[in-house]
Amino acid sequence: MSVQTRRAVKRECEVLIIGSGIAGAALAYFLTECGVDDVIVVEREAQAAYHASGRSAASLVELDINPVIQRLKMLGGNFLRDPQHGFSEYPIVDRAGVVMLFQQPRWSELDAEAESLRAEGLALELLTPARAAELFEGRLDAGAFDGAAWLEDGGYIDVHALLSGYISGARAAGAEFRYNSEVESLLCSGGRCSGVSCVGETIAARWVVNAAGAWAGEIAAMAGATPIRFSAKRRCIATFRPPPGVDPRRWPMLWSDPHRFYFRSDSSGVWFCPMDEEEMEAGDPHPDDLAIAAGLDRLSRVFPSLVPRTLGRSWAGLRTFSPDGVPVVGEDPGLPGFFWLAGQGGCGIETSPVLGRVAAELLSCGESSLFETSRLRPHRFLPTRTRLTGA
Ligand SMILES: Cc1cc2nc3c(=O)[nH]c(=O)nc-3n(C[C@H](O)[C@H](O)[C@H](O)COP(=O)(O)OP(=O)(O)OC[C@H]3O[C@@H](n4cnc5c(N)ncnc54)[C@H](O)[C@@H]3O)c2cc1C
Repeated sequence: MSVQTRRAVKRECEVLIIGSGIAGAALAYFLTECGVDDVIVVEREAQAAYHASGRSAASLVELDINPVIQRLKMLGGNFLRDPQHGFSEYPIVDRAGVVMLFQQPRWSELDAEAESLRAEGLALELLTPARAAELFEGRLDAGAFDGAAWLEDGGYIDVHALLSGYISGARAAGAEFRYNSEVESLLCSGGRCSGVSCVGETIAARWVVNAAGAWAGEIAAMAGATPIRFSAKRRCIATFRPPPGVDPRRWPMLWSDPHRFYFRSDSSGVWFCPMDEEEMEAGDPHPDDLAIAAGLDRLSRVFPSLVPRTLGRSWAGLRTFSPDGVPVVGEDPGLPGFFWLAGQGGCGIETSPVLGRVAAELLSCGESSLFETSRLRPHRFLPTRTRLTGA
């Protein structure tokens, strides 16, 4: 009779990262850039980016109503358009351009903000509805919106090239990526987090980083860290071939918050997103045919000639939001050694270079010159009284 036992092989490292999505991979890369190469990334799945990071729309859209996200997207976009020499053989961004549609009162607000966004470096032009419709060969209903933003430097991110750049750069500097390695518990002793336990192995670490995407809340609960209520919201994408006579290959991406859809095209056809946001448990969601059909119905009111007769492949993933919609980056206020890199919502690919770098700087030298970190730290979710007394 053979008896299987759990071997407690003890390893040590400086930084242990839970999750090899885009967030964990970017952090490993920027840590090695900061001179920290004793890094282990553990991932439950057999490959990197199996969950949200492998299911995104891969778009770079540097316009957001939240000023913190706006700034993070612009900083991320700068890196993605011009990564450091040797990062990737291929360009990371295809600058197809993005058209975003607006209705009042948001259109007037954008009009008032446009000059300062341009002064910060955003390539932003405001278009009349007629001019926006021209960019889509007149097929877009110009009566359905009040104005549009043209983001010339936006477009599509090659997520595979980005992820490979992060992982191969980190590996070349000594970081280790382990797949099929699920964290089952966290080691906490003397009031600090000191490592993790995976199947067959414990790994001691100076820092444990929670980059677990939709499972970030679960990992924090296992550690006894500050409870932050994340919400994981499903989003679907469906692909289709354009109807006969319609050739969207030279069109920019079209994004409409008021009509709740966006689409982009590539050589194989159109990617359509109905901007659904059903809250779900962390897991492996399936696309929802009803949500996609409702989105196509909204598309038909604004862009009737693009509505397909049949759909191709579709998929779904989870976008995970913190209570204020801003990512959470920093050491836990109540559990030293436990570090958050979570809650990237719908922009974790675009913002991965800036969040990865800010987190790496905080871990390696306690501060970051790149971003005002108080906007990101988990301390903002402590009850006000605790924050005031500093307890
Ligand atoms: C349909 C859709 C469209 C999107 N479009 C865009 C877009 O256009 N642009 C953009 O920037 N962003 C977009 N996003 C958002 C983006 O995909 C996410 O913000 C980003 O991928 C989050 O990355 P992550 O590394 O935090 O999470 P994930 O990629 O989910 O990675 C977390 C990893 O942690 C692992 N893990 C969890 N628990 C454990 C454990 N106990 N032990 C070991 N490993 C564990 C998981 O297996 C997972 O691989 C989109 C998302 C969706 C779903």
